[in-house]
Formats: sequence, C-alpha cells, structure tokens
Amino acid sequence: MPAYDDDNIFAKILRGEIPSFKVYEDDDTFCFMDIMPRTDGHCLVIPKTPCRNILDATPAQLAACMATVSKVANAAKAAFGADGITLQQFSEAAGGQEVFHLHFHIHPRHEGVPMRAPGTMGDMDTIKDHAAQIAAAIS
Ligand code: 5GP
Repeated sequence: MPAYDDDNIFAKILRGEIPSFKVYEDDDTFCFMDIMPRTDGHCLVIPKTPCRNILDATPAQLAACMATVSKVANAAKAAFGADGITLQQFSEAAGGQEVFHLHFHIHPRHEGVPMRAPGTMGDMDTIKDHAAQIAAAIS
C-alpha cells in the first residue's frame, strides 16, 4: 500500500490551504461539504490525523470518525427532512477512492430519489446554504 501523501486535497483543506464549507469539527475530526454533491447535503467526515483509508486507519481514528458520522448523519436527516442516510467509504483506487485521506460520505436520502451521477460540480451558494442547515441542526 502506498505511503500517505501530505499533498492530497483533504490534507490541504485541513491545513486551510484550500477553502471548504465546514459543517462541524472537534479535536479529532472535521466535516465539510462535498463540492460535487451526489445528494443535497452530501458531506464528508475525515480524521484530522493522516491515514489513507479504512485499510491503514487506527481504531482510534475510526472511532472518532464514526462518532462524528453519527452526529452529522442525524443532523443532516433532520435538516433535509430525509427518510434515511447512505454512508459510503471507498478504499484504494480499485475500491473507487479518488482522494487518499480517509473519508466517509454522508448522503441524506429520500424515498424513491436516486443519487446523482458523480463528477458534476455543485452550485457553491447552495452548498454553502446546505452546510449551514446541517450545522444548525447539530445538537
Ligand atoms: P472518493 O471517491 O475518494 O471517495 O471521493 C472523493 C470526493 O471528494 C468526491 O466525492 C469529490 O466530489 C470530492 N472532492 C474532490 N475534490 C474536492 C475538493 O477540492 N473539495 C471538496 N470539498 N470535495 C472534493
């Protein structure tokens, strides 16, 4: 497995070198909006410490991420009046991973509404609004 690359996009977001729409953070994790949202409210939870994916993450990194995933998923479900949540995690290129810093995708889902195809840039004002809506619903 390749070594962790400090120049990946999410490491740059963590260092503040690239802007992001923050939803939530604590000592160990950061949650921000995906800029190519496949659902309204599509956001990402990452650990603040380096690891590529599920294959090299420590139990502590995974536990911290899951605590934040639970918190944000409930807030996103409430904020969007969703019927459910899809949680995605891709590890290594063969597993569908494109950014090599561990992340969990959170998608609010509505009955019968499919996810959009990947790779289309979202409207930044809308994404900013969605970040604020989820953040406001976090207790
Ligand atoms: P992966 O396939 O690695 O699980 O997904 C990477 C995700 O990162 C994709 O959903 C993609 O839209 C998102 N992404 C790629 N570049 C950026 C970026 O610069 N900022 C944000 N917020 N998301 C990004």
